[in-house]
Amino acid sequence: MNLKHILLAVCASLALSGHMVNAKEIKIGMAIDDLRLERWQKDRDIFVSKAESLGAKVFVQSANGNEETQMSQIENMINRGVDVLVIIPYNGQVLSNVIAEAKREGIKVLAYDRMINDADIDFYISFNNEKVGELQAQSLIERVPEGNYFLMGGSPVDNNAKLFRQGQMNVLNPLIKEGKIKIVGDQWVDAWLPENALKIMENALTANNNKIDAVVASNDATAGGAVQALVAQGLAGKVAISGQDADLAGIKRIVAGTQTMTVYKPISKLANDAAEIAVTLGKGETPASNATLNNGKKEVPSFLLTPVQVDKSNIDATVVADGFHSKESIYN
Ligand code: BGC
Repeated sequence: MNLKHILLAVCASLALSGHMVNAKEIKIGMAIDDLRLERWQKDRDIFVSKAESLGAKVFVQSANGNEETQMSQIENMINRGVDVLVIIPYNGQVLSNVIAEAKREGIKVLAYDRMINDADIDFYISFNNEKVGELQAQSLIERVPEGNYFLMGGSPVDNNAKLFRQGQMNVLNPLIKEGKIKIVGDQWVDAWLPENALKIMENALTANNNKIDAVVASNDATAGGAVQALVAQGLAGKVAISGQDADLAGIKRIVAGTQTMTVYKPISKLANDAAEIAVTLGKGETPASNATLNNGKKEVPSFLLTPVQVDKSNIDATVVADGFHSKESIYN
């Protein structure tokens, strides 16, 4: 037996005894747009605990809805030597350069929930976001088949906001053409913040002498702001309004009758799958995909999950049954 054979034998026995498994801990940097919104706290908690259970270490940062902050947080993660970046972009259009820098360092990049455009990312995981918009508009037209509709889009720099709008218009356009639905206003809510939505709704009501029958709000945070404006005019519950995320506050408004519906996206599935994908990428392996989306730069291997429509009739069968919210927290 020469030296090479001895070394091989030692390596083999170390591997067998488990010493070489997980020899390198995978470091993940998770750059979150905005932890001030309820849903992202859930994403973070589930993602971190799953990734850690798979033996990874996760550094989390929130940009609180600020583009520059997010870019410097990502730079910082690159400098810390992470193996994988998991990014929920505030602005999906401005990260090409910082991602190019990450790629030069051999770091893998996973776009989480929101696509990152024109960038060399490795993978994208999200829900079918056009479908989300279709569910929102579909619920509204079932309740308000004719009338004045106000469109309240999400953040203008969030790629998802555009997909939600696309889905909403797939449903609304035929009725607009038939003259049944009239669009009386169209605004986008900066950073998805409720206080911005409140102002937009106040102005829309004034501009239309309160003659608005339905509000196509793209998530629960913005619906919450809009409902506040409706309450002030005695219109809450009379105007149909959509939402998304099954936030506890949104579900409570549905029970109270001031919000028509929400879209439940099983965050635990998204976050758990994302953690597995991130660790797979970190090991240099290829995660399973079920779709491919073009981000302007490349065809990005993607995994898209299915959103679920929730209204008064199926709260218990969806968010409660899934353990997303407890019955007590909703009805007490
Ligand atoms: C997400 C929504 C969320 C919104 C605001 C979107 O990109 O898909 O679930 O409500 O951002 O944070």
